[in-house]
Amino acid sequence: MSVQGFTLNEHGTSQVLCWGDVTVPAPGPGEVRVQHRAVGVNFIDIYFRQGLYPMDLPGRLGLEAAGVVEAVGEGVTEVKIGQRVSYCMSPLGAYAEAHVVPARCLVPLPDAVSFEQAAAITLKGLTAAFLLQSLRPMQKGEDILVFAAAGGVGQILCQWGNHLGLRVIGVTSSELKQQQALAAGCTDVVLAKDDIAQQVRQLTQGKGVEVVYDSVGADTFEQSLDCVARRGWLVSYGNASGPAPAIAPLTLLQKGSIVLTRPSLADFVADRDELLELSRTLFTAVEQGVVKVQIGQTYPLREAAAAQDALQARKTTGSTVLTLEE
Ligand code: NDP
Repeated sequence: MSVQGFTLNEHGTSQVLCWGDVTVPAPGPGEVRVQHRAVGVNFIDIYFRQGLYPMDLPGRLGLEAAGVVEAVGEGVTEVKIGQRVSYCMSPLGAYAEAHVVPARCLVPLPDAVSFEQAAAITLKGLTAAFLLQSLRPMQKGEDILVFAAAGGVGQILCQWGNHLGLRVIGVTSSELKQQQALAAGCTDVVLAKDDIAQQVRQLTQGKGVEVVYDSVGADTFEQSLDCVARRGWLVSYGNASGPAPAIAPLTLLQKGSIVLTRPSLADFVADRDELLELSRTLFTAVEQGVVKVQIGQTYPLREAAAAQDALQARKTTGSTVLTLEE
C-alpha cells in the first residue's frame, strides 16, 4: 500500500526531505504494520539526514512513532491487530503515516499514555532510563551534570535523577531554558557560555560530579573531562555540536582514573526482555508522575523539516512531536 511520508535521496539540510507517496509493504514473517498516530522527532534524525550516521540512499527517515497495529506477518506473537504500541529502535522510516517494523521492536502502551506522549518519550525516556539505571546504576546522594538540561532527553534525565535522590546540575544556553531545567528538577543550572568546569567544581566543593551526561559532543567534551570527580564517569552519549574528539587513554588517568564511555540505547534494548523491562520502568515512572512528559512543540507530520530546523537551531525545549490527522 501507499501512504504519505518522507524519502531522502541525498544528505544535506532539512531541504532534502522529500514529502510524497511512500510504499509500505505487507508485513513479512515476524513483522508488523503500524498505523501511526504520532511520530517522535529526535536529534538522531538530523545525524542520519546529514550523513553523520550511515544509511542507504535513497532511504527513509525517523526512528520513533506510536500508533495502532494494523496488520501482522506470519509468526508474530508479540502483539495483536488493534493493539496500541510505540517503537524507537526499528529500521528507519517512522516519518510516514505507517511503517513496517519487526514485532520484537514494539512496546505495548499502557492506556494512561497517549500516542503523543508515547512519541515524545519512547526513545528519549528509554535513553534516560538506560543511562541512569543500566549503564552505571546511580546511587542516592551522587552528583550528576546534565548538558542540554531543558531538551528532550535532558528534562527526563533531570526529573528522574531528582526523583532518585541525585543532585542534578544542569547546563543550558539561555536563562529561559535555565528556568525550565530548574522546574525539571535541577538543583543548579550553569549557563553554557560560562566556565562550566569552574562552576561545577565550585558547586561540588572541588570534588566534581560522579557522572557527566554529555549530549553536546565536540563543543563541550574538554570541559566535561574537567567536571568529573576522581573515579567518576564521562558518559558521552550524543553529538549535537558534532562528534567528540579522539582522546589518549592516559588523559583518563590524569583526570583522576575516570571512565569514558560512548553508549547507544540500541545496545541496551537489543534483547526483547530488556526492552520490555526498561519500557515498563519508563511507563511506570510516567504513570507515577516521576517523569512528566514535556511536549514543548508539535508540528503536522508534513512539516518535519521545520521541526528539525527548530531542534537544530536550539529553539526547542522538551520533546518535539509530529502529529497526524485522524
Ligand atoms: P535535545 O532536545 O536535547 O536538543 C539538543 C540540545 O542540545 C539543544 O536544545 C541545545 O540545548 C543543545 N546543544 C548544544 N550545542 C548545540 C549545537 N551546536 N547545536 C544544536 N544543539 C546544541 O535533543 P534530543 O533530546 O533529541 O537528543 C539529545 C541528545 O541525546 C542528542 O545528542 C542525541 O544524539 C542524544 N541521544 C543519544 C542516544 C544514545 O543512545 N546514545 C539516544 C537518544 C538521544 P542548549 O541550547 O540548552 O545548549
